[in-house]
Amino acid sequence: MKIAVFPGSFDPITRGHAALVKRALPLFDKIIVAVGINSTKKYLFSLEQRLEMLHQSVGQLEGVEVDTYQKLTVHYCQDRGAGYLLRGLRSANDLHYEGSIAYLNRYIGKGLETIFLISEPEYAPISSTIVREIIRGGEDATPFLPEGLRLPEF
Ligand code: ADP
Repeated sequence: MKIAVFPGSFDPITRGHAALVKRALPLFDKIIVAVGINSTKKYLFSLEQRLEMLHQSVGQLEGVEVDTYQKLTVHYCQDRGAGYLLRGLRSANDLHYEGSIAYLNRYIGKGLETIFLISEPEYAPISSTIVREIIRGGEDATPFLPEGLRLPEF
């Protein structure tokens, strides 16, 4: 069974993340969208809120599971029997950063492969960081969020 883990902070999930999951669905039997808990990071939305938003926007798709993990991503993939990591590339900057991580994960994860999907041009400018700024500034982030997603109070 081809299982991929799509790891991220998803603070919050954006239209770019959701599009990536949908595009990757035909490539795998199962995609686990997993919120990695990093105790040194400050988040806008709580873990529960981020999971709830994931359930609302991609959790109902056939072949998608939503989960959370605290350990190293490679160890989580081993626990879940996942042979692939799914990541998105929006720009050359992403490639630079993601390339190193993919190499390390393949090395530590004994062959764990990262599959990259290049972002559609319309989603490339969308990042959770920018969406958080829009929300904090009191503007409407709806065009950048998955369709139909209701933002929780924060
Ligand atoms: P992290 O904290 O690990 O960067 P994010 O939630 O910001 O987590 O992103 C998770 C993954 O989603 C990353 O691989 C990132 O490149 C990808 N991603 C984020 N936004 C987009 C987008 N607009 N289009 C395609 N991929 C994206």
